[in-house]
Amino acid sequence: SKADGRGTYRVFHNEMNTRLQERRAIEADLRAALQLRQFELYYQPIVNIASKQIVAFEALLRWNHPQKGVVSPATFIPVAEETGLIVPIGDWVLQQACRDAASWSHHIKVAVNLSPVQFKCGSLEMSVTRALAGASLHGSRLELEITESILLQDEEITRGILNKLRVLGVQIAIDDFGTGYSALSYLRNFPLDKIKIDQSFVQDLNQSASAAAIVKAISELGKALDMTIVAEGVETAEQLTILGDQRCTEAQGYYIARPQPAGKLMQMLNDLSAV
Ligand code: C2E
Ligand code: CA
Ligand code: CA
Ligand code: CA
Repeated sequence: SKADGRGTYRVFHNEMNTRLQERRAIEADLRAALQLRQFELYYQPIVNIASKQIVAFEALLRWNHPQKGVVSPATFIPVAEETGLIVPIGDWVLQQACRDAASWSHHIKVAVNLSPVQFKCGSLEMSVTRALAGASLHGSRLELEITESILLQDEEITRGILNKLRVLGVQIAIDDFGTGYSALSYLRNFPLDKIKIDQSFVQDLNQSASAAAIVKAISELGKALDMTIVAEGVETAEQLTILGDQRCTEAQGYYIARPQPAGKLMQMLNDLSAV
């Protein structure tokens, strides 16, 4: 009936209003968060499966909100991207990650996630150069994780930026590989060093023959193209064993270690090398 229709509309409308209000509240708080030093980087180790050594730490952004507690990046990064705030926030992440990495032993790299918005803003190469110089960190210690959506943008421009970053010694990883618009042409058309297999495939490894076949195929492809293959979201010993059998190079996930604040990494290094 008409009344029902209107009621449904009203509920829907209220829900939209609430979401919009939440979004506005996040936006207002986000604007102040950098100055109030509410951001923090957590780090999750990436290990070489064969040697069991830590090869890198991935920086994962956390927002310590005074009322809401730790806010997940899944909640605030989309808002930061829509408002352009991801550019200054991303600069802070690059600088902090490089400073932290400068205090680690020399073979361990730092991996930083990049938003497509940082790519489009035109100053990425300068931001990376500054972050490295500010921390006296060589480019070869930095790995940038990009998603396939970045590769969907203007091909010439994107390739130009990636090449400039690589001249600095920086390595480029493609994140969440296998989701989104995965096209094998990317692997040929862009200078990429690493493929990170999306955790959805890794988590299905023991139950799904097709997930296992896909992981195997990506690993072989990586080998043929001289790219490192990382499996993310490894939660069990069994998954890690299967990945090793399939000659996947590196692994990351809760089974190895959860993301931790920078101050806890020394402890993590000791614990993991004791395993
Ligand atoms: P991502 O880059 O794919 O990062 C991996 C996510 O999976 C992280 O979530 C990590 O905590 C989580 N994870 C790691 N191991 C496991 C596991 O074994 N099982 C499960 N279920 N999850 C695992 P997190 O930290 O919440 O980050 C979510 C996403 O937010 C990231 O996904 C990345 O896309 C984005 N993000 C995080 N930090 C930054 C940043 O500094 N800049 C930008 N632009 N994006 C960031
Ligand atoms: Ca990532
Ligand atoms: Ca990922
Ligand atoms: Ca992801």
